[in-house]
Amino acid sequence: MRRSKHLLPQSHTSKFHWCIRPGCQHRQLHADSNPIFQCAQCSFRSCIEHKVTWHNGVTCTEYDACIVSRQREADETASETMIQEISRQCPGEGCGWRIKKNQGCDHITCRKCRTEFCWLCKANYMDIKRHGNIAHKRTCQYYPTNLPDL
Ligand SMILES: [Zn+2]
Ligand SMILES: [Zn+2]
Ligand SMILES: [Zn+2]
Ligand SMILES: [Zn+2]
Repeated sequence: MRRSKHLLPQSHTSKFHWCIRPGCQHRQLHADSNPIFQCAQCSFRSCIEHKVTWHNGVTCTEYDACIVSRQREADETASETMIQEISRQCPGEGCGWRIKKNQGCDHITCRKCRTEFCWLCKANYMDIKRHGNIAHKRTCQYYPTNLPDL
């Protein structure tokens, strides 16, 4: 019988929530167990958990996961950009100048020794000009067999 003392009144599981739709001031009792709040006044549906317009088709847990993965994607893009910006050593003989790539072009010219080379495979552009793309390393995306068909 002691337990019954701890039984909470029915109203605990239901609370008053306001409709989040701008302009609608409607307030109604809503069961906490149901994340979907549908306004009786304007029938606007919102999520009481996230305080947003109801995320159609996904549960609150999925919605959370979605936010997390979107965040992770943004982080990955940021670190990819970082890798792209990493400097490389000039392959010019006895040069060793550290070059930072700052634009999208993979044709790099060393500021110090004027050696021109491919950012991706460090092939010398003198050879590329002479022999064509075959002068790139086999693993380079500019190597003829790696180029997309036109
Ligand atoms: Zn409403
Ligand atoms: Zn939600
Ligand atoms: Zn150099
Ligand atoms: Zn290359």
